[in-house]
Amino acid sequence: MATIGFIGIGNMGAGMARNLVRAGHEVTVFDLDAEKAHGIEGAAVAETAEAAARGRDAIVTMLPAGPVVAQVYRGSILPHAAPGTLLIDCSTIDVETARVLAGEAGEAGFAMLDAPVSGGVAGAEAGTLAFMAGGGEAGFARAEPILNAMGAKVVHCGEAGAGQGTKICNNMMLAIQMISVAEGFALAEKLGLSPQKLFDVSSAASGQCWSLTTYCPMPGVGPTTSADNGYEPGFAAGLMHKDLGLAMAAAEASGADVAFGRAAFDAYAAMVEAGEAGVDFSGIIRGKRELS
Ligand code: NAD
Repeated sequence: MATIGFIGIGNMGAGMARNLVRAGHEVTVFDLDAEKAHGIEGAAVAETAEAAARGRDAIVTMLPAGPVVAQVYRGSILPHAAPGTLLIDCSTIDVETARVLAGEAGEAGFAMLDAPVSGGVAGAEAGTLAFMAGGGEAGFARAEPILNAMGAKVVHCGEAGAGQGTKICNNMMLAIQMISVAEGFALAEKLGLSPQKLFDVSSAASGQCWSLTTYCPMPGVGPTTSADNGYEPGFAAGLMHKDLGLAMAAAEASGADVAFGRAAFDAYAAMVEAGEAGVDFSGIIRGKRELS
């Protein structure tokens, strides 16, 4: 079992840290919000990020965005971690920052993985997250048992940044598919069709996708989803907007044609501008049904 420093005990980090404790690891947590850090039974609480970083076998970060991860790495982790400490960043951040930090970590003698997750707060609590990791083979081999304690699926996607790249491609596909399902139901409604019949057909036909069968945005059909709960997140529109922004930056830097991804980005930007950042991302259907 490993000694693990865990920095960022928010909605996702709390469940992840709990699962590391459950797996028998010796976990020391830090969050700027001390109350959150004290909520992890069985974990020691560090007073500072440096203290969480010192003398560990591995350090896991689960922070809001790239600039925060860079600040914590440069200020607290790289100068203070013991030689040989394995560094795993599970936050969703831009590919460029992930690559730059992995380079700086490498120069300082550390193996670093970007290992963002899919599966949401429920997956973090249940230990069923999917991890997509970027970084060297040796670091991945060391990280695998730690990631397995927090997830049900762990895939090594390639070198540094590949985890973040995979994550934003996945979420761009998800956003486009969610909007496609929302527009399908909005059109069906306008045509006077039964949403249940559309679900019955499309869930077994070529319109089938996760946004339809597992996370249907139309209330009252399919499994119980956020749509049946007033569009409480789930996965907030604001976070989807952030991820699509990362995808747009990556597309610009690499010259990829992501016309539909751009349209999805604009649609979620409109939701955020309308004050709906905290609404579930499937709530995009509400505007479409109203406008229809
Ligand atoms: P969150 O805001 O609930 O948690 C972030 C935590 O980091 C907070 O507790 C905050 O106090 C802490 N923090 C901020 N700056 C800090 C610093 N300098 N030092 C120490 N702690 C600091 O966010 P979350 O929902 O847990 O998401 C975390 C990451 O996971 C994000 O990058 C998000 O995009 C990604 N993610 C979230 C979900 C989801 O469904 N919520 C799903 C997949 C990925």
